[in-house]
Formats: sequence, C-alpha cells, structure tokens
Amino acid sequence: MKIQVTREVRDWLFFQHDIANKPCATQLSSQPRRWLNTREAKLSTIHWPDLWFFLPYGGAMASKMVHSAALKTPYSQAVYRTVLNGEQDVALFNHPEFDNHEQVVFCADATTGLKAIIAVHSTALGPAVGGCRMWDYAQDDDALVDVLRLSRGMTYKNAMAGLPLGGGKSVIIGDAKTIKSEALFRQFGKFVHSLSGRYVSAEDVNITTGDIMIVNKETPYVAGLEGKSGNPAPFTALGTYRGLKAAALHKFGNEDLQGKKVAIQGLGSVGFYLCEYLHREGAILFVSDINAAAVERAVEQFGATAVALDDIYGLDVDIYAPCALGATINDQTIAQFRCKIIAGCANNQLKESRHGQMLRDKGILYAPDYVINAGGIINVWFEMRPEGYDKAESTAKVEQIYGTLLTIFRRADAEQQPTNVIADLMAQEIIAKA
Ligand code: NAD
Repeated sequence: MKIQVTREVRDWLFFQHDIANKPCATQLSSQPRRWLNTREAKLSTIHWPDLWFFLPYGGAMASKMVHSAALKTPYSQAVYRTVLNGEQDVALFNHPEFDNHEQVVFCADATTGLKAIIAVHSTALGPAVGGCRMWDYAQDDDALVDVLRLSRGMTYKNAMAGLPLGGGKSVIIGDAKTIKSEALFRQFGKFVHSLSGRYVSAEDVNITTGDIMIVNKETPYVAGLEGKSGNPAPFTALGTYRGLKAAALHKFGNEDLQGKKVAIQGLGSVGFYLCEYLHREGAILFVSDINAAAVERAVEQFGATAVALDDIYGLDVDIYAPCALGATINDQTIAQFRCKIIAGCANNQLKESRHGQMLRDKGILYAPDYVINAGGIINVWFEMRPEGYDKAESTAKVEQIYGTLLTIFRRADAEQQPTNVIADLMAQEIIAKA
C-alpha cells in the first residue's frame, strides 16, 4: 500500500498526541532512521516528496491508530478508509481539492475523442448546477483540480445567491479550436443524462449556448438555452458591475465609478459587457487579453488603454477586475498590486485561501468571486424554476448581489476577517440549515 502524503497528513500523523496508541506517531517523527532499521518497520510505506517513513506494526496497529485519531480533514479520512479497507489508491479521495465531493464522474469516448470530468460537490440545497468549461489542460490533474475547485465554488455561489441549487461543474479536456463536434457534445450529453438530473450543465469558458443546444439533444438537464434565459454572460456582467459599485461604496464611501481607473483582465463574454457598463458610467479603462482583436475593439469602443498581459497587475488603478481565468491573485501578483479593490467575474481568483488574508493585510478590499459573479447562475435559475423565466425578476435578483457584498464587507470588518473567509462562513451557515 502506497499513500502519497501531503504536509497536511504528515502533520496530522505526527502531532496527534491524543491517539490511543501514541508511540507510533511520536516515535516515527523523532526516530525515523531507527524505525527503518527495525524488523517491525517493514509494513505500510508512506511516501512524500522528501522522505520515506515506515508505519510500524502494519495494518492492525495502523488501523487502531488511525481509527482513534480525530478525523479532521478529508485527507485524513481518506487515509483512514485506505488503512482500514486494505490496498487501494487514494489519489482522488485525498486530493487536496476533493472537499467531500458527492460524486466525480470521469467520462471518455474513443469515437468522438471526448475526455471530460463531471463533478457534483453538493446536492444539499438542490440539483448541482454549474457550467461546462472546455480547456486544453497541460495534464489531466490540472483538469481535475479545476473541476473540483469550480464545483465547490458553485455550491457556495448558489447558496450565497439564495438559490435552491447545489454545486457542480464539468470540464471537457481539449483545444476548443479543434475538438468541437456535434458528436462530441452529444456524447457529453449522454454522460450528463446518466446522472438523472443530479447535475445540470450550462455554458462556461469556451462553451457557447449553441454547444449547449447540442447537449440538449441528448438530455433535458441543461440550462441557459437560446430562446429561454439565453446567454448568462450579460447577467454575470451586470452582477459584477453592481459588485464593483458596492465595493466602491465600502472602500471610498461613494459608489460612483466616474473617473475611477479600472484594470480589466479578459475581454470575453463577461469582460466586454462589464467594460460597457463601466464606460457608460465614465470609468477610465485599462484592458488586457491574449486575444488582440478583443483588445482593439475595447480601445476603439471605450477609449480603453491596452496593457501588456503581465503589466495589468502592477497598474496604479483603483480597481483590478479579473475577468479571465483563476488564480491570478497569488504571492507574485499581490506583491505588485497597487489597486484598492479587487472585484471581477473570474472564478477561483485566489490561488489559495490565505491570499485573502494577504489582500486584507495590504488594505485591498476583495469582493469574493463566487458572490460577485453569481448573476449568470441567478438568471439560469429563473429559466429552471417551475414558474418559468421572467427577465425583470431575474434582473432584480441579480441586483441583490450589491447588498450581499455589503453585508460581507461589513461583517469582515466587524470580525476582523478576510472577506473570502466571511463569505465561506455565510455559505456554510446557509448549507447547514438545508
Ligand atoms: P470567455 O472565454 O468568454 O472570456 C475569457 C477571456 O479571457 C477571453 O477573451 C480570453 O482570451 C481572455 N484571457 C485568457 N487568458 C488570459 C490572460 N492570461 N490574460 C488576459 N486575458 C486572458 O469567458 P467568460 O464567459 O467571459 O468568463 C470569464 C471568467 O468569468 C471565467 O473565469 C468564468 O469562469 C467566469 N464566469 C463566467 C460566467 C459567465 O456567465 N460566462 C459566470 C460566472 C463566472
């Protein structure tokens, strides 16, 4: 049995002093070499990148030890299951991003070339709803990390948006310029259908409403269709725009964005609409995108200033609006930021949760991503609800993102916590009541 041990499990194994049979854990930490040289130490092998240790006394003892430990983390629970159940791979269940997902489905079809992952994080509040993303991931694990993080985010997003929906997401692995075909999307639709409505798909990065129409030929479990609620991006942009104004009110004491300098990274379906709102209000725009044509359009239509890709972080602006991909708030970029507010539509903006605290320490107000970018899913819900779609009602609910963010900002101040931590707490409070 080989278990890949993260820092989290290592700490957990070494510092559980209230374990019934404590000699294992403590002696292992202090005398690894001695264990290596003893006869007893030839049992379960634990590996992590730097060191090899042996878990003394093997399965029976390990079972006792693990059984009596406080099973605090998903990873420790996975190790527990592994030790008790014998030899099995724990690469998924103890994945750092696993977070107790209810279901993860790996989908492959040789004929169409489809490789996809559907992740259902939680159905506590309702069916798991979340878009499908197509991306040419460098390796399969990147796709797994992405889908797990995104689907967890959907659970929290739907809870904070006040929707009776759970959280899920899917990714199709491959280059959107070359792999798209009717057959591929129909095959994906068959996989979605096999979940019998536990997961409902919609569009996300590189997936159009047209693609979702094809998926719909194989399953009714899709949303955001043409002729119904349609493209969610304008609603996501509206919610993001309202979120920027809420953040401005909290930070500057005035929600007016006229004359405010805003750096927008990503001029796709949402980013471009957001530019429109901001331009209309008189904001001064700085834009970057890997798509030069989109940048040119923004320069022409909004008088925006084009910025080189990596220069967007260090600009002397009031607001940085990440509207491309995730993890753009990290150790490197935080060192460069000169903005006062970060508020944009991209999912998973913080590379790690601790980066929320770093922003707070730097005096930067962060609008939690899954709260500010909920406009699209809110609109999708109005299509799914039994009463049917109503644009005015949907718009009114999207506008409520403004108030939700103000509540988060004020509670974060009162409790001296980063805004992302407060948003998580509020979402967990809602889910716990389900
Ligand atoms: P999109 O694919 O239409 O746009 C993304 C844009 O980002 C593209 O123009 C792309 O060229 C650009 N881009 C990619 N890498 C970049 C980089 N390194 N620097 C600058 N630009 C880069 O996607 P979208 O629908 O506009 O979504 C944008 C983000 O918002 C994504 O993170 C998405 O998950 C999130 N989001 C979208 C919606 C929605 O309704 N579409 C809802 C919630 C969240």
